[in-house]
Amino acid sequence: MITHPSYTVEPWRVREAALHLDLLPQSESVFALSNGHIGWRGNLDEGEPHGLPGSYLSGVFERHPLPYAEAGYGYPEVGETVVNVTNGKLIRLLVDDEPFDLRYGRVDRHERVLDLRTGLLHRTCEWTSPAGRTVRVRSTRMVSFTQRAIACVAYEVEAVDRRVRVVIQSELVANEQMPRIAGDPRVAAVMDAPLQPEEDFARDARLRLVHRTQGTGLRVAVAAYHAVLGPASTATSSESAGDTARFTATGVLEPGEALRLEKLVAYGWSGERSLPAVRDQVEAALAAARTTSWDGLLKEQRAYLDEFWGGADVEIEGDPEIQQAVRFGLFHVLQAGARSEERAIPAKGLTGSGYDGHCFWDTETFVLPVLTSAAPDAVASALRWRQKTLPAARERAAQLGLRGAAFPWRTIDGLECSGYWPAGTAAFHVNADIADAVVRYLVVCGDDRFERETAVELLVETARLWRSLGHHDRAGRFHLDGVTGPDEYSAVADDNMYTNLMAQANLRAAADLAERHPEEAAALGVDEEETAGWRDAAEAMHLPYDDALGVHEQSAGFTGHQPWDFAATPPEQYPLLLNYPYFDLYRKQVVKQADLVLAMFLRGEAFTDEQKARNFAYYEALTVRDSSLSACAQAIMAAEIGHLRLAHDYLGEAALMDLQDLEHNTRDGLHIASLAGTWLVLVAGFGGMRHSADGWVDFAPQLPESITRLRFTVRVHGRALRVELTDSVARYSLADDGEALRIRHYGEPLTVTGGTPQQRRVPRRPERPEPRQPAGREPAARRVPKNP
Ligand code: BGC
Repeated sequence: MITHPSYTVEPWRVREAALHLDLLPQSESVFALSNGHIGWRGNLDEGEPHGLPGSYLSGVFERHPLPYAEAGYGYPEVGETVVNVTNGKLIRLLVDDEPFDLRYGRVDRHERVLDLRTGLLHRTCEWTSPAGRTVRVRSTRMVSFTQRAIACVAYEVEAVDRRVRVVIQSELVANEQMPRIAGDPRVAAVMDAPLQPEEDFARDARLRLVHRTQGTGLRVAVAAYHAVLGPASTATSSESAGDTARFTATGVLEPGEALRLEKLVAYGWSGERSLPAVRDQVEAALAAARTTSWDGLLKEQRAYLDEFWGGADVEIEGDPEIQQAVRFGLFHVLQAGARSEERAIPAKGLTGSGYDGHCFWDTETFVLPVLTSAAPDAVASALRWRQKTLPAARERAAQLGLRGAAFPWRTIDGLECSGYWPAGTAAFHVNADIADAVVRYLVVCGDDRFERETAVELLVETARLWRSLGHHDRAGRFHLDGVTGPDEYSAVADDNMYTNLMAQANLRAAADLAERHPEEAAALGVDEEETAGWRDAAEAMHLPYDDALGVHEQSAGFTGHQPWDFAATPPEQYPLLLNYPYFDLYRKQVVKQADLVLAMFLRGEAFTDEQKARNFAYYEALTVRDSSLSACAQAIMAAEIGHLRLAHDYLGEAALMDLQDLEHNTRDGLHIASLAGTWLVLVAGFGGMRHSADGWVDFAPQLPESITRLRFTVRVHGRALRVELTDSVARYSLADDGEALRIRHYGEPLTVTGGTPQQRRVPRRPERPEPRQPAGREPAARRVPKNP
């Protein structure tokens, strides 16, 4: 077993072998449990000490004013922030008359294990109180994938060597006291007491609290039921008042005796339904969970995850840290999206309040590609959420004098919440990213109803945006001026290559789909003239190129800017956004995150191999990776170009972003896009998988030296394709015996069946000189331990 600073490396588990109080904020994110509807941070059962208490419900947020020092037309005036809802996971313990608090007494053992196969978080602790009483505490926590309103905890305390009186208090607490958060703009706005009490209830083993958010008026109900198993002396009681409901179990334990509590918690919320209706909703969910029982819920969870892993697992030989990390990443990506059901999937999932709980393009460009293969229903539902927010996006476009829909750069409910134009609304590419996710979902899953009901509208409205945002110049070339691409260190630029290429694909796909579904398109007012306009714009899209350097320009004029002085930038000044003024970043050649390089992955057919290699080398020397979204994109292109060692290094960065807290902000929530990026690097980078514009799914695999075998399953045209790679051979087979599937291996068409795998040699790619990164920004070299 290998140990990195916080967790041991095991294929299916994340184990924290000892408690480090200073690492609590980070581990609360790593051990967060969620099903996309409910999110529970991995806070200790007893609530304190904590980094950041966190219980979230997808879609429960509060509004606040967005003040500006100088007002301007079209600035969003209202912000949205995720609300820390009622904490249902709290279980406090009194041992004789000492509160069980790990800051006092002696901790002889403390272990937490997140089991990725069972979806359970286990904790085992042995603690001696300052008065010398020793107890063993075990807890198991789960947020159910199968019953989306349900989360639960089993908590057990055992006397070790002396008789003790224990009191277990299981609580529901609203408006928890929150720690003050320091001045990083990426952290959430803290709100004091966001919930107004409407009802509290306690009877026997049942508790319930109903609250309402003040501004948004969302009614949040939480109900709990307890089952107690303990010595005959055990007594129970319950009470409630305002923000707290409490169930208490007291008993005297002889050495070896235990008191066990099983707590089922149901969450529900609504912006519309009455108090009795929301109360009934949680009571009904609780009744269903009680019928299933604790053991039944565990079984359902395991069965759900068995099916997920059956179609999504990735196996790696040669790099155990990455093996663990890719499963950890897949698990959290699933948690973020599985049951989000027509709500936003935030950049941090429901693991923390970072970025105010907002959803960005991260979802469509990084998370949905993974879910398209691993959990496609979640993709349809995430995109239907975008469709539901179309009224707000249309209104925003109209406010900006544009047609179609301008989707928000960051939001919870669909309103633009970015108060800073250059790194907000100007990042219009989010529209094309949504369109790209729609097209990918259709290609992979072929969902006719979704195509007619959702895809047509999303593609039409996004295409309209591009057509009205851009213009044809005198020579007929189409330009998109004044936009911000993925690289937020260049803003409000003309003809950003990424935006132009993604918009081009969006325009073409919209025209194709409108022609395939003339009725649906006509209902949206689309006629032949409009689709012809989209095609013209796409054909004439300007792609800036610097002839002298022989590279594409990230945006018009970019390569003429003064290069950033990397040699004079000390390592502690990164991320640059926290230490240099934006005006200086904007006017120099310095790239926050993969931009043109990402375009070369997503629109690969728009570049020759030679262009890709030259562009990659040029932008590599300017890219500082101040966003966690960068490393995975760089890894994919490094692999395609043949820089396999570099690709492996970047894979390490994307994969270990949170397990090793590489950006020192895992406490605010996980970097879900980077975790998703781990899968993307393995499948699209080393597996070389691409959805080509001609409808084929291509593979061009190539493994780095230390990864000796890679196996994954991907969904292709609705089928589960198994791919197994070594450094010299690729094997393709279908997971079932259905109809044969046609794919391409290095351009050669193959017919794959459920029988004997198709086996092909993996050609070696030409060696190219290793590109260089800005001084001090080289990725950490992957050191793969021998014989783990
Ligand atoms: C990145 C954006 C990203 C956001 C949320 C920013 O630092 O530059 O591209 O959408 O973080 O992850």
